[in-house]
Amino acid sequence: MLNQKMCEMGKRRSAIREIFEYANRRSAEIGRENVFDFSLGNPSVPAPKEVNESILRTVNTTDSVALHGYTSAQGDKTCRDRIAASLNRRFDLGVSGDDLYLTCGAAACLTITFNAICNEGDEVIVFAPYFPEYTVFVEGAGAKLVVLKSSEKTGFLPDAELLEKAITPKTKAVLLNSPNNPSGVIYGEETLRAVADVLRRKSAEFGETIYLVSDEPYRELVYDEEIKVPFVTKYYKESIVCYSYSKSLSLPGERIGYILVNPNAQDKSDVYAAVCGAGRKLGFVCAPSLFQRVAADCDGLTGDLNAYKANRDLLYNGMKQSGYECLHPDGAFYLFFKAPGGDSEAFCERAKKYELLLVSGTGFGCPGWVRIAYCVSADTIARALPYLDKLAKEY
Ligand code: PLP
Repeated sequence: MLNQKMCEMGKRRSAIREIFEYANRRSAEIGRENVFDFSLGNPSVPAPKEVNESILRTVNTTDSVALHGYTSAQGDKTCRDRIAASLNRRFDLGVSGDDLYLTCGAAACLTITFNAICNEGDEVIVFAPYFPEYTVFVEGAGAKLVVLKSSEKTGFLPDAELLEKAITPKTKAVLLNSPNNPSGVIYGEETLRAVADVLRRKSAEFGETIYLVSDEPYRELVYDEEIKVPFVTKYYKESIVCYSYSKSLSLPGERIGYILVNPNAQDKSDVYAAVCGAGRKLGFVCAPSLFQRVAADCDGLTGDLNAYKANRDLLYNGMKQSGYECLHPDGAFYLFFKAPGGDSEAFCERAKKYELLLVSGTGFGCPGWVRIAYCVSADTIARALPYLDKLAKEY
C-alpha cells in the first residue's frame, strides 16, 4: 500500500496553488490580460543584471565537468565562504562558510531544519498569520505546528506574553517570518528581544534548548530606508536562519538558498551536523552547482525594488480610497486586508466574478482576512482597482 498521507497530500493542492491553477484555466478561456491573478508570490521584476552576467561568466570560464559536477553535500566551500564574507560585510555577523548549508530555497531550508532539530511529538510554535506550507514542513519532521494568534491591534506582531504561556516541555522551536508573508509586517528589535527573553527563560526552566528558526526569503524586500530588518542571530544564540534567493534575486525556479546555524549556539557543531544529516536523509545535498556560484556572486543584490514599492503604494492607496481596511505592508510583496462582510472565503469567491483572484486568510490562520500578492505588473494593478472598487461597493 502507498503511504496514504503522502497520497492525500499530493492530491490536495494548497489554497494558493488552487487559485493559481484556476487563474491558468481562466487565462486559457478568456485571455491572460483579462485575469487579475494576485495568487502567487512569483517575482515580477527581472533578476538583477549581475545574475545573468554571473551565469555567462561562470559558464564561459569554468571547467564544464567541475561546474556541473557534484559539490560538497553542504555546498561548495568557496561559495559558502564568499556568502559568509558578504553576510559579514552587510550585517557584521562573524559567521564563516562552515556555518552555512546551501540548499534548494527556503522550503528545503525549513524542511531540513525541522528534521534536524525535532523529534517525534515535539512542537513548533508559529504566530498567525503564517505561510501555510509550514504545516507540511513541520509535520513532515514528525512535529506538531502550534499556532498562536497575534493581535490585529499591534499589526500582527508576535505577542511575547502569549508565547510564554504557550511554551511547554515539548516546544522545540519558535518559527518567525519577517518581513511576513502574508502581512508584510517587519518585526523590529523590540519584538525580537521580547521573544528571545522568553525563549531564554523557558529553555532554562525546562532544561532544554528552544530554537528560534527565522524564515527570511523577503529579508531585502523592504520599502523604506529607515526600516531595518534586525538579524536574529544577534538577539538569540540558539537561532537558525533559513534564507532563500527566490525573492531577492527573482530566482524562485532555480531553487537556491542557505541555512545559517548561529556560530554562537551552545551546541553549534552538533546542530550543524544534524542539518547535514537531515539534508542527507531528505536528499537535499549538492544544491544546484551553477546557482551556488551565482548566489556567491550576487548575495545582497536585488531586482528593482522600486517597482514593488510603486505597486504597493498604488494598491494600498487605491484600496484605502475604496474603503478597504488594509494593513500597511512595510516589506515582502503582499497586502493583507479585512474581507468586507467578514467572510473571507465568500469574499474571494465573489471577487472571481470580476476575475480578481485573491487568497483567503483562512489558510494563513487568519479567517476574515485576504491576501493580495502585488508582485505583478503595475498595469495589472491599475486595471484591477476599478473592479476592487466595484466589489467594495457591493458591501
Ligand atoms: N517561506 C515563505 C514565507 C514564503 O513566502 C515562501 C515562498 O513563497 C517560502 C518560504 C518558500 O520559498 P522558496 O521558493 O525559496 O522555497
